[in-house]
Amino acid sequence: TPVLRLTNIEKVYQTSTIETVALNQVNLVINRGEFVSIMGPSGCGKSTLLSLMGLLDEPTRGTIEVDGRPVQSYSDRELAGLRNLKIGFVFQSYHLINDLSVVDNVELPLLYRPGMSGKDRRQRALAVLDKVGLGARTGHFPSQLSGGQRQRVAIARALAGAPEIILADEPTGNLDSVMGEEIMDLLLGLNRQDGVTIVMVTHDEQQALKTERVIRFFDGSQVG
Ligand code: ADP
Ligand code: ADP
Repeated sequence: TPVLRLTNIEKVYQTSTIETVALNQVNLVINRGEFVSIMGPSGCGKSTLLSLMGLLDEPTRGTIEVDGRPVQSYSDRELAGLRNLKIGFVFQSYHLINDLSVVDNVELPLLYRPGMSGKDRRQRALAVLDKVGLGARTGHFPSQLSGGQRQRVAIARALAGAPEIILADEPTGNLDSVMGEEIMDLLLGLNRQDGVTIVMVTHDEQQALKTERVIRFFDGSQVG
């Protein structure tokens, strides 16, 4: 069973005067362990697609299945678990909390995890920071880090809950090419060595070619 399946997805944003069709008849399967890139011009629906895959928003029409089960068949509690633990998000602009230290940022997704002690949280956060190569920066604050290091913190935070899927929205979009390549190598390692399924939005053709599959969008629909 694929980890995610989107069938006949349509997403319409409705404001008082305008209706925007952000996605139209999208059919997409993401298999366990894949690394897929999503490409397409600004406004073609890529962020909308990621927010639907991350269960942060609902489609106007169509079905989303996680592990072969329609999202509607999960209880609210199960859905909260999927959002918090199964899926990790990485954004172009990092979305770190500036007045929390690196390690405290990474602990955030673990705060509401039942049965996890403060000590376990700290241990887990330090372990994932080590994994992304930031073991020596755990007490720093985001403002004291380079862009590439900040993105590593954001990736560590996404990894804290040991997610099966990482959804990354232009994770290297704010980085120079050297740092961008480092982040790309980190993601490739997580995919190949740790088996994390990754769906990444990117504008970088070179990066996309390093992934297993490129899905291209134009104006809300797949074009390849
Ligand atoms: P991309 O990520 O490819 O730039 P988006 O998914 O952000 O595209 O946007 C797709 C379309 O939906 C665009 O026309 C955008 O303006 C519109 N859109 C996105 N989010 C909203 C929203 N919350 N309300 C209204 N329109 C939106
Ligand atoms: P980005 O993908 O660049 O990080 P967003 O996802 O916030 O930016 O927005 C993408 C597009 O969706 C932009 O064109 C933005 O103007 C549009 N958009 C986002 N939220 C809304 C909204 N509430 N109403 C109308 N358009 C929106």
